[in-house]
Amino acid sequence: MPDLYFYIVLFVLGACIGSFLNVVIYRVPEERSLMTSSACPKCDTPIPFYYNLPIFGWLILGGKCASCKAPIAWRYPAIELLTAVLFTLTYWQTGWNAFLPVALVFVSTMIALVFIDADHMILPNVITYPMFVLALAVRIVYPVAFGSIFTDTLYWPVSMMHGQPAWLMSLAGALLGALVGGGSLWLVGFLWKLLRGVDAMGLGDVKMMLGVGALLGWRLSLLTIFAGAFAGALIGIVILSRQKDKTLQAQIPFGIFLGTGAVISLLFGERMIGWYLARFM
Ligand SMILES: [Zn+2]
Repeated sequence: MPDLYFYIVLFVLGACIGSFLNVVIYRVPEERSLMTSSACPKCDTPIPFYYNLPIFGWLILGGKCASCKAPIAWRYPAIELLTAVLFTLTYWQTGWNAFLPVALVFVSTMIALVFIDADHMILPNVITYPMFVLALAVRIVYPVAFGSIFTDTLYWPVSMMHGQPAWLMSLAGALLGALVGGGSLWLVGFLWKLLRGVDAMGLGDVKMMLGVGALLGWRLSLLTIFAGAFAGALIGIVILSRQKDKTLQAQIPFGIFLGTGAVISLLFGERMIGWYLARFM
């Protein structure tokens, strides 16, 4: 059962990376080092390695710090479990190939951004900028090193470059994706500001979509924004309907929905677009 073996490996790897993402989510907004060992947020006692086991460490401790008994949020094991599940889903969709590590890094980045945005309403540049650069590098190197073709190069308008080197078509697709992903979001924010006179979203969302667009291409970036806007609208309505003061401007960290939409697009986007085009076009 080699396949089952890979699923288990990906699950365990995901749980460990999820443990690291907890540190990233907790420390990056405070600009603290990621390298020092993890400690109880309350009493600062370093957590011994045997309790640092993802998911199980928290269960063994009963959700309490071993030293001061302060409760440890269930979100920590939940993020480890979420990462583990998304890693196995990614393997299921991608298979064992050169693109898998890229997809796993992408999913991890989205998880970190989603939870940092939820906590602090920011999408840190130290994450969004490197993601954009890394996405461009992958789009240039991968067609040369692995001969893999990013799906957006098969479609208009990049497909019109047929005959050009694969890396150049891939790079053009990446830049177009960044322009469509980041640009359309910037435009929405710009128009909203014209109409309502308030900032609807920060530039963090635009920068995040530069990286998402560069890796996924223009079709999947649009799907990311539609899926994100759809989820954001649904949840926004719930938040607004619960709000007593209707004049309050509800602040919604849009990065949460973009990150969710981006993971859905990465894993199932091509199939969703194919299904949609077959049915309605
Ligand atoms: Zn403690």
